[in-house]
Amino acid sequence: LPESTDVVVIGAGGAGFAAAISAANAGKKVVLMEKMGVLGGDTALSGGEMAVPGNWIQVKEGIVDSPEALAKDMLEGGDNAGDPALVQVIADGALESSQWLTFEGGVSWKHDLMQFGGHNTKRSIIPITHSGSEMTTKLTKRVNEIDDITLVDCTRAVELVKDGNAISGVKVQNTVTGEENTIACKAVVMASGGFGSNVDMRVKYNPAMDDKILSTDSVGVTGDGITMGEAAGANLIDMEYIQTYPVCDPSTGALLYVGDVRLEYQAIMVNKEGDRFVEELDRRDVISNAITKQSDGKGYLLFNQKGADETGLLVTHADEYENILARNVIAKGDTLDDVCSQMGVDAAELQKTIDTWNQYCKDGKDPEFNYRGKMNPIEEGPYYLMACKPAVHYTMGGLHINTDAQVLDQTGAPIPGFYAAGEVAGHKMGTNRLGSCSMTDIYTFGRIAGANAAAHSA
Ligand code: ADP
Repeated sequence: LPESTDVVVIGAGGAGFAAAISAANAGKKVVLMEKMGVLGGDTALSGGEMAVPGNWIQVKEGIVDSPEALAKDMLEGGDNAGDPALVQVIADGALESSQWLTFEGGVSWKHDLMQFGGHNTKRSIIPITHSGSEMTTKLTKRVNEIDDITLVDCTRAVELVKDGNAISGVKVQNTVTGEENTIACKAVVMASGGFGSNVDMRVKYNPAMDDKILSTDSVGVTGDGITMGEAAGANLIDMEYIQTYPVCDPSTGALLYVGDVRLEYQAIMVNKEGDRFVEELDRRDVISNAITKQSDGKGYLLFNQKGADETGLLVTHADEYENILARNVIAKGDTLDDVCSQMGVDAAELQKTIDTWNQYCKDGKDPEFNYRGKMNPIEEGPYYLMACKPAVHYTMGGLHINTDAQVLDQTGAPIPGFYAAGEVAGHKMGTNRLGSCSMTDIYTFGRIAGANAAAHSA
């Protein structure tokens, strides 16, 4: 580790990679540190889908979209509690960030789009492997090619050092040896992610988010940047808004990517009694709350072989599929009776639900729940029925930033030399983040934070 550098970036997830590369490309020396032995954070665990209005697939398919339309969906999806100025930066930066990932990062994409809950159009591009690890592995490779970036793992930032009001360094600890050091720097970009894996912190700000709720998150996302930032004078904002993801493994909390058939093609969600109870493309919080109210606290996603084939998700996520099949989280069968008996769902009622759904498909509308996507009849098998339960996924609150990614103090003034990007920064997503907006956020604000931290250290 160098004794001093221009910019220190804390956390090697998507936001941290974007910030480090951007600061180095502006001619600065950068230290990018990660406390875990693996890089990538929640970004690597995510599906990596990214909301990009005006993307090349939309253009090809003739889908009309705009940054304004994305901003409107994001704000409404978060009950208008997010800062419209921050949201506009994300929406305006989306297309350029996707191009940056392609050309600077070397990321490849699938040729189709996903429509996430709360979005009023199909606008989310998908990494070729349908995983955020496509991004984090390619960005790691890119970082390793850039001489001006020193990338270290097993190195935890423990404290921000200040000179007067300005950030002047970072105290770090090697997580293997325990050895402590201080790196002097001119600017810090905090990119340490959220606090979904820190139950004490969750309960402190939102008592409902206790240890009975599992989490989809990396064990590394424990809110360190929020704690360090607060100690350095930062204002915290929206801390009580914690999101659960509805489609998670009932016994481990892992996000079930096989369930993305719901978003990429179609799946209907029923309860144990065999009845639909929510619009399958509604917001994450709406679906999560609806699932929690069911008699066994679970939802069951139903799709058929057509859904599996159209999306290829059982192949792209073959490891997950085999794992959940072996553990009876998902059932496959030639008949509805078969999958229902494996999962303990009422088969006769489910058959009625499907008959009704197929009628809705013919009529072109769903009067019960107003399904907003394209409606496909569920006819021949094999069928898949998957149990799911909500788990903590994303924390909307964090360090208060402005549109230049500067961290603000309690008076609203920027703390000199202190920038933040990604999940650690709050007030963008309001009460609820829409799916695939995090990627748009982390690469847009990550690049802004890196560039501005570089300019600050001139
Ligand atoms: P984002 O999506 O905002 O980029 P991620 O969760 O993908 O966030 O990445 C955040 C990364 O920051 C994780 O890899 C996490 O382990 C790392 N991290 C968290 N706290 C610290 C810390 N104190 N020092 C160094 N790295 C940290």
